[in-house]
Amino acid sequence: MNREDFPMLKTGYIYLDNGATTLKPQSVIDSIVDYYSNYTANAHRGDYDLSLKVDNEYEGAREVVKNFINANSIKEIVFTSGTTNSLNMIADGFFKEILKENDEVLITESEHASNVLPWFKLAKEKKINVKFIPLTDNNEVTLDNVIKTITPNTKVISLAQITNVIGDERPIKEICEYAHKNNIYVVVDGAQSIPHIKVDVQDLDCDFLAFSGHKVCGPTGVGVLYGKENLLEQLKPQNLGGGMNESFDTVETVELKPIPTRLEAGTPNIAGVIGLSRAIKYVDNIGLDKITEHERNLKKYAISKLKEIPHISIYNENNDGGIVAFNVDGIFSQDVAVYLNKYKVCVRAGNHCAKLLKNLITVKNTVRMSLYYYNTEEEIDYVVDLLKDKNKILKEML
Ligand code: PMP
Repeated sequence: MNREDFPMLKTGYIYLDNGATTLKPQSVIDSIVDYYSNYTANAHRGDYDLSLKVDNEYEGAREVVKNFINANSIKEIVFTSGTTNSLNMIADGFFKEILKENDEVLITESEHASNVLPWFKLAKEKKINVKFIPLTDNNEVTLDNVIKTITPNTKVISLAQITNVIGDERPIKEICEYAHKNNIYVVVDGAQSIPHIKVDVQDLDCDFLAFSGHKVCGPTGVGVLYGKENLLEQLKPQNLGGGMNESFDTVETVELKPIPTRLEAGTPNIAGVIGLSRAIKYVDNIGLDKITEHERNLKKYAISKLKEIPHISIYNENNDGGIVAFNVDGIFSQDVAVYLNKYKVCVRAGNHCAKLLKNLITVKNTVRMSLYYYNTEEEIDYVVDLLKDKNKILKEML
C-alpha cells in the first residue's frame, strides 16, 4: 500500500477525495524542494551549469510523460497548467480554426465543466452545435449510442475516459476506430483515467488527451496536453511571448519555435513539471495494473458495506472505477460531508462540476468517496460505521 510514502497519511485524516486531488508522496515533495533549494534557474534560457541541469530535468520530464502514455514522440507532449488549460487549448487553438457553421461536437451530460464550457464557447463563436450522446440507464456511454448520435456534420467527439461523478470508463478505443473511419476527431479528457488505469495513446488512437498532474500524485498547476504530432503542428498558440519564438523584428515578422516549445510561452512551471515527472515515476513503479485492481476491490468492498445500511442510496454500483456516489436518505449531501469532517474524513459533496448530470441521476447532489491506491478497507470500515446511525448524523448536524 506504500502508505508510509505519504506524509499526509500521518496526519490522521481519512482522505477519500482523490477525484479532486491526490496526496503527494515524499519523493515528489523532495524533488520540488530540491529544485528550489539546490538548482533554481530558469529553463531554456541560460548557458551555465544550473540552467543546463534545469533543462535536462524539464526535457527529461517530457520523455517520462511520453513513455508513460506511450506517445510516439516527445514533440507530442505539451506542458500546461492542467486538464482545464489543455482542453481549452484544444478547443480554442485547434478546433476554432477548423470547425465551420453547423458542424457538431458530441459530448455527454456527465462531462466535467472543463469538457463542456470550452465547446459551448465555440458553439457561440463559430455557430457549431454541441450535441449530447445519450447515456444508458447506468449513465454509461456505449459505442452504439455514439454511432446513433453521429450525423454527417459530426466533426469531434470529446469525452472523459473515466467520469468524475459516476466513475464509468468509456470505450474510447472502439469510439476512435469508428470515429476515424468517419473523419471525426476524438478528444479524451484523461483527468480521471491517467491516475487509475494504463493509458496508451497509440493503442487508443485518440487525437488529443488532456490530464492534470495533481490527480496523479503530482503537484497542482501542471498538466499535459498530448496531441498527435501532425495535429499539434496545426494548433495555434494562444499565448505568445518569450521562449516560444525563434525571432521577431520591428516589421512584425515573427518566427516561432517548433512544437512543443511554441505552445509553452513564458517561464513554465518548472518545479511543477519536475514534480509531475517524479509522480509519474512513482505511480509507474507501483504499476497501474496493481493500482486499478486495488481500487476495484476496494470499491466492491465499500459498496458491499454501504449496501448493508438501509438509509443509504448508491448511484453507481455497477461500474469499476474507484468512485462511490451516494446519499444518506433525507440528509443533504453537504451536511453528510460536514458530519464526516468532524471525524477527519474528507469526502466531496455537491455536483462535482458535472452540473448537467443532475438531469440524469434525478438527485442534484451526491456524496462522493473517491478512492486511490493508498486507501484501505479499515478506512472504509471507519466511514461506514460513522454512517450507520442516521440519528447520530441528524443530531450532530445541528
Ligand atoms: N475533467 C475531469 C473528468 C475532472 O475530474 C477534472 C477535475 N475535477 C477536470 C477535468 C479538471 O481538472 P483540473 O481542475 O485539474 O484542470
